[in-house]
Amino acid sequence: MKQSHLQIHIPDYARAALGALEAAGYESWCVGGCVRDALLGVDVNDYDIATAASWEDTEQTLKAQGFAVHRTGTKHGTVTASIDGHPLEITTFRADGTYTDGRHPDSVTFVRSIEEDLARRDFTINALACHPERGVLDCHGGLDDLEARTIRAVGDPSKRFAEDGLRILRGCRFASQLGFSIEPDTLSAMQSHKLRLANVSSERITHELDGLLLGGHVHDALMETANVLTAVIPEVAACIGFDQHTPYHIYDVWEHTAWVVQRSPATRLSRWAALLHDIGKPAAFFMDGKRAHFYGHPKLSVALSRGLLARMSVAPALSERILTLVRMHDVVIAADRRSVKRALQKLDGDVELFEALVALKKADALAQSDLSKPRLELAFDLERVLAEVTASAEAFTIGQLAIDGHDIMELGVGRGPEVGRLLKCALAAVIDEKVVNERGPLIEYVSKHLPSC
Ligand code: ATP
Ligand code: MG
Repeated sequence: MKQSHLQIHIPDYARAALGALEAAGYESWCVGGCVRDALLGVDVNDYDIATAASWEDTEQTLKAQGFAVHRTGTKHGTVTASIDGHPLEITTFRADGTYTDGRHPDSVTFVRSIEEDLARRDFTINALACHPERGVLDCHGGLDDLEARTIRAVGDPSKRFAEDGLRILRGCRFASQLGFSIEPDTLSAMQSHKLRLANVSSERITHELDGLLLGGHVHDALMETANVLTAVIPEVAACIGFDQHTPYHIYDVWEHTAWVVQRSPATRLSRWAALLHDIGKPAAFFMDGKRAHFYGHPKLSVALSRGLLARMSVAPALSERILTLVRMHDVVIAADRRSVKRALQKLDGDVELFEALVALKKADALAQSDLSKPRLELAFDLERVLAEVTASAEAFTIGQLAIDGHDIMELGVGRGPEVGRLLKCALAAVIDEKVVNERGPLIEYVSKHLPSC
């Protein structure tokens, strides 16, 4: 055990809760992610407290100090106390019983010491406690691991991952968020126990994958944990080490993918699309002499991604937008106003989606050889033209037309899909500059072209 005089910033509301519990005779500490992140000097999400008090005693003690207390997980000894809009999760020192389902402890037992509580935690860097007077308590070498930027399981890694499969994916996520490498025995146990992830709900898997994809060190994490992630996204297994045999690429499909994710904007839309854009490449591959081809790979990427996203907890609307980016990532859009407006029309006028498409094209080109420089330049040109189009009043959606469905029906067209088809035709004519976007000329155009439109 190591007690250190290191100190972290603990905000007043957390100090007040610690002080009240200790004054009532219950040893209490800040624990977990807040200690880790504060020592690293990064923003702390939330402060968690571990205490010797039972949840009932915590509730009573903190209510008396003016905290609002909610019974958020009393089965596990947890209450959430808040004051001035600052929530604190407070949990009684506990040890977890046996695990039979590979995810949840069969029972939890409340224990007497912080040391026993720290022993149940997943990684050494998450098993640190801190107190305003007593400093940092480190029973598992977490301070050294923070210094060495290492993710290491507390205790026997095999045992810890066999208990709870979610820890395996948490390790991958921390690698991406913190830029730490995973200690070899821990990584090896993550791989050998990866099928334990089958016991984890799709909500938790998606949440951890989101965290991993949005992390600042996602390239390194995807490379290091590829043979763990295959348990939750087996579709990527064929990409790992898949040689592209073309002068346009310097990386195999997986490393290329990892770079595209890293260089994409940190949004779920962009990062998921980047992860999935080339997933169909190994299936599309064929050799023509010494050169490989992947014709139509976006179509196969969409087919694989559709199934993959359906297994995840990704809202259908977001899934569709991700799939649109995957489908269109390789479509050449000329950098002129007409082509950009046509593309915007295809995207139902979704400018943000177009921007994400351009960002994906950029990241994709950047992760290829110098031969792909023209693609990168084209992406920059597209960005410029898009800015021009959106700054002008030029129409690229039906809603921006100077006529609407009523005008079409006044021409004698009955209510129904034909009205929409004619409006689309009118929009295409405006984009192609065959007619100006004004009511009179548009009505004349549509009536003249009614049969052929
Ligand atoms: P962040 O909040 O940034 O995701 P965190 O480390 O605070 O990171 P939480 O999920 O908030 O993660 O959990 C708080 C603490 O609880 C962790 O630091 C760790 O000590 C412990 N913990 C969380 N999940 C597990 C788990 N599945 N197995 C063991 N310990 C866990
Ligand atoms: Mg936390």
